[in-house]
Amino acid sequence: MGTTLAEKVWADHLVRKGGDGAPDLLYIDLMLMHEVTSPQAFEGLRLAGRKPRHVDQLIATEDHNTPTVDIDRPNPDKTSALQLSTLEKNCKEFGVRLHPLGDADQGIVHAFAPILGLTQPGMTIVCGDSHTSTHGAFGALAFGIGTSEVEHVMATQTLSLKPFKTMAINVNGKLPADATAKDIILAIIAKIGTGGGQGYVIEYRGEAIRNLTMDERMTVCNMSIEAGARAGMIAPDETTFEYLKGRPHAPEGEMWDKAVAYWKTLKTDDDAVFDKVVDIDATKLGPYVTWGTNPGQGLPITADVPDPAKIADATERSAAERAIKYMGLKPGMPIKDIAVDTVFIGSCTNGRIDDLRQAAAIMKGRHKADSIHRVLVVPASSRVRLEAEKEGLDKVFKDFGAEWRNAGCSMCLGMNPDKLVPNERSISTSNRNFEGRQGKGSRTHLASPAVAAATAIRGTISSPADL
Ligand code: SF4
Repeated sequence: MGTTLAEKVWADHLVRKGGDGAPDLLYIDLMLMHEVTSPQAFEGLRLAGRKPRHVDQLIATEDHNTPTVDIDRPNPDKTSALQLSTLEKNCKEFGVRLHPLGDADQGIVHAFAPILGLTQPGMTIVCGDSHTSTHGAFGALAFGIGTSEVEHVMATQTLSLKPFKTMAINVNGKLPADATAKDIILAIIAKIGTGGGQGYVIEYRGEAIRNLTMDERMTVCNMSIEAGARAGMIAPDETTFEYLKGRPHAPEGEMWDKAVAYWKTLKTDDDAVFDKVVDIDATKLGPYVTWGTNPGQGLPITADVPDPAKIADATERSAAERAIKYMGLKPGMPIKDIAVDTVFIGSCTNGRIDDLRQAAAIMKGRHKADSIHRVLVVPASSRVRLEAEKEGLDKVFKDFGAEWRNAGCSMCLGMNPDKLVPNERSISTSNRNFEGRQGKGSRTHLASPAVAAATAIRGTISSPADL
């Protein structure tokens, strides 16, 4: 019997087979680090008198606690300043390469590494951050780990793991022009639920996936964790190779040819069997928006907010009741009638250059609605910012009335100065809409950059077709 892509990458990194229920030991090619989940790992290493096993396979950036304005001034938040200075001290002491705030390669941990060509097909990549699944877009087995595991990888460059189950999600047919990668993944999570992927590595397959750019593939894989999956993967192909060629850490010359030859073997065999298969008809998709407080509570933009009284399952019904109350909505109201206060375009889900181009194409020559308090456009990395400025996108955003910021996690989470106030409602291109995610009492609707841009123009949740 053949093997799946995930099983191939696993087998290629097996240091020791566990057997009898014991975990396998896997070699880890790359560990990404940031200021939030690394301090305890460095401290553990320090207390044990150890050094990193392969320091050149560790790389760090600053993203969660960084401000996105006035970055050359002292950080106004003491806790954030301490997190950042601790990372800087630790990286210096242990010799870990760091791209700090202000560096041209600084950015969200899941955005700066692919741009540098560090993320490559067939690799095992970990980070103390759940959205590490993003890197699976290249055919890497990439997943988030806990702080003690970060320390273990630093010390040994290996990880003990029990094999995952495998799931194929086939997104069949062509995506309609008004649907995007974000709509694909929101539709998938709405279908399988936030626990639907638990215990699985998902492989996204099918015509609609193959037609996505690398930035779009990263959007899909990024949110695998929101379906509960450990990782998401897409088999590498010409789109992947074209993206990687010439990047600073991509192989060159003869090594490039050898690498591509290997990367071409990284696909699921025709006779491989997945533990679970889900089919999605891409031709039926359109813009999706979340109405509730988890990423699975999403619907087509043309739908109405659900009426909990019509939900048969008691647990789902009470979750919907609570979410509607928290979000300040009314059952049965059209999603398009929801007025928002703030628009956030950014994050490791949708802060890449393709996303900014998508938003700018809609905003060009228009102005934000008077009812919208603020529109934040935050590139996912400094390289994305530089590229956007080269293309003049920053001017489009500023003429529109948006704030053009420096790179960072920003309003994806309330851990830096970019926060919502209680009851403030945002449309956000990020990945989590949990209670309080964007600040205490914040109300978040997840959507694509296209829907966020159209909403900024009309003031109520809208798609570009409404303009
Ligand atoms: S942008 Fe959001 S989800 Fe992504 S790494 Fe930062 S905080 Fe996490």
